[in-house]
Amino acid sequence: MSEAAEPLTRMRLRVEQDIFVVRQLGREVARAVGMEQQDQTRIATALSEVGRVMVAGGHAAEVTFVAEPNGVPTLRVTVVDPLPGGAADVGAQLGQVGRLVDTLEVDDGEAGTVVRMARRLPAGAPRLTAERMDEIRAGLSEHVPGTPLDELSVQNQQLIAALDEVRAQRDDLARLNAELEETNRGVMALYHQLSDELEETNRGVVALYAELDEKSVQLRAASEAKSRFLANVSHELRAPVTAVIGLARLLNDPASEPLTSEQRRQVELISGSATDLLALVNDLLDLAKAEAGRIEPEWAEVDLRAVFAQLRGTLRPLATRPEVDFVVEEPPLPTLRTDEVLLTRVLRNLLTNAIKFTAAGEVRLAGRLVDGDIEFVVSDTGAGIPAELHERIFEEFYQVPGSTAISGKGTGLGLPYARRLVGILGGGLRVESEPEVGSTFTVRLPAS
Ligand code: ADP
Repeated sequence: MSEAAEPLTRMRLRVEQDIFVVRQLGREVARAVGMEQQDQTRIATALSEVGRVMVAGGHAAEVTFVAEPNGVPTLRVTVVDPLPGGAADVGAQLGQVGRLVDTLEVDDGEAGTVVRMARRLPAGAPRLTAERMDEIRAGLSEHVPGTPLDELSVQNQQLIAALDEVRAQRDDLARLNAELEETNRGVMALYHQLSDELEETNRGVVALYAELDEKSVQLRAASEAKSRFLANVSHELRAPVTAVIGLARLLNDPASEPLTSEQRRQVELISGSATDLLALVNDLLDLAKAEAGRIEPEWAEVDLRAVFAQLRGTLRPLATRPEVDFVVEEPPLPTLRTDEVLLTRVLRNLLTNAIKFTAAGEVRLAGRLVDGDIEFVVSDTGAGIPAELHERIFEEFYQVPGSTAISGKGTGLGLPYARRLVGILGGGLRVESEPEVGSTFTVRLPAS
């Protein structure tokens, strides 16, 4: 903004007739600097209002038009009434005029009462070069004011144009409203449809959950019945099987009646089968007890070195093959708070399996501390287990097809039982294994 900018034109307001002139001049200037029709009317109307108020005060006022070409191109109009102290009064009368322009200020200055108005030029207006401004000045100096009648007719035409525009806008609005109503109806219909579908889906989900609950109650009941059945049957079988073993032993006793060699062979077969059956019955009973939650661990500070030593001692007789090294390392902790019997049973079970399924290489028991837990690791270089069966071997009675134990028989109950026991001790049992390479079973228990 430069105060020194040379005005485009100026004029003096003295009598009422001048109001028409300033109105016309305002429109002319606005048009010359590139404003559109509507903005021309705004400037003209604002000026005629300011003019009306000033002339009513009975003093000659000076109107100056300045165009600012730089920054945001703007048209500024200043009206100075030499009568000082009229700002409050003039400002009050110009209340609505402010809406026609971007800024409107009314001040008491040294020169008198000053009204300043500004309106930005539209983005597409031609650039106001020095030559263009000179051209505008020259054009305006030749401007001949029309009569009030001319101005009235122009004003009427503008009014008609404005009315047309208002009507067009009203029609647009009505059309938009109709469209909006239509859209709303569509949205409501969609909403109803969606909420119906949601309700339907919810009903289905609720029904499904009820069914699931019912099924899991049935499943729990079935599993309890199975455990009860296994416990009862195995318990009932134990006594007669033990009796058979005893009787066979009696028959083979040197103090008894001598048997023929064929009879002795047959009695030994009976005794062997009965011993296998007793092992199965015992395993079943153990598993049923663990599943029924009837095993209460006896927590105590367990001497791990003693546990390892006991396993070393009891299992060495099984690991008799010279091709297999049986290694029991030192435990990573001297003691652990756990149930000694259950822990020993799990480790013995895993080591027995490792020895059973390893033809050559090594069977090893090691221990390590991991993130505040203790891990007991039973590894072997035996037959290994295909990856897709790593979970199945923990199912009751499952034995890897084609896997033949090198020594001893199995029931397929050892691993499910071991996993149960580890669970009861608050830990987990996992396997890593690769056929022809070997298996590693890891028991992880909390160490504190
Ligand atoms: P089992 O009485 O047959 O040993 P388990 O439940 O202890 O029953 O084991 C299930 C099956 O998992 C075994 O029959 C065998 O096929 C496989 N398995 C278990 N341990 C090993 C191992 N260390 N190496 C190879 N296979 C194993």
